[in-house]
Amino acid sequence: MSKRITVAIDGPAGAGKSTLARRIADKLGYLYIDTGAMYRAVGLWAVRANVALSDMHRLEQLANEARIEFVPGSGGVLLNGEDVTEAIRAPEIAEAASKVSMVPAVRRAMVAKQREIGARASVVMEGRDIGSVVFPDATVKIFLDARPEVRVERRAGESSLPPEIIARQISERDQRDRTRPESPLVQAPDAVYVDTTGLSVDDVEAALLKIIRDRTSNGKERTQ
Ligand code: C5P
Repeated sequence: MSKRITVAIDGPAGAGKSTLARRIADKLGYLYIDTGAMYRAVGLWAVRANVALSDMHRLEQLANEARIEFVPGSGGVLLNGEDVTEAIRAPEIAEAASKVSMVPAVRRAMVAKQREIGARASVVMEGRDIGSVVFPDATVKIFLDARPEVRVERRAGESSLPPEIIARQISERDQRDRTRPESPLVQAPDAVYVDTTGLSVDDVEAALLKIIRDRTSNGKERTQ
């Protein structure tokens, strides 16, 4: 009997999670779920609705009411039916996501949605707390990392902002993600640590596929 496979990929911004998780999901035929996009969608809604990022009660309401959907195959994200794929990538929305994600009730709402998705299909899910909180029993857990200057360089390549600003934003976001009381970014004890510094995307993909296949009978089903 085939079993659902959950691949959890966690790590800081710019480690390569999205690129790799998407490619691996494509290769294995699993669903790709970008949980950062979910926090970004809540952040976007809060900014548009002029909700203060300190107003925990309103943020909880938004998180519970948000209908967040992933368009299969395209990487598109819908918030309440609207295509917000581009809008959630703005730097101020990354900032808002990082702030709303500190609110415990917002996290509870997102984790519940993530578990629902993972209960229905084999997934590659990436974020900060997937292996530690969302799916502590994930089939495979990977912690992707890279040296800070490399992570800044990667993000600078995707943005028109000066590298100094990106470096400051990433460092502040990392600090918040690692030190928040609720579900901080940590490497789960049973996660495989992969440092992507100096590696090509193809190299990292091959390394991750090997880790996954070693634990899952070739990525299809787990026999024991
Ligand atoms: O991964 P991405 O940069 O899109 O995530 C945006 C923000 O959402 C992160 O800075 C982090 O604060 C938050 N996040 C989180 N837990 C996750 C995914 C993202 O707290 N599982």
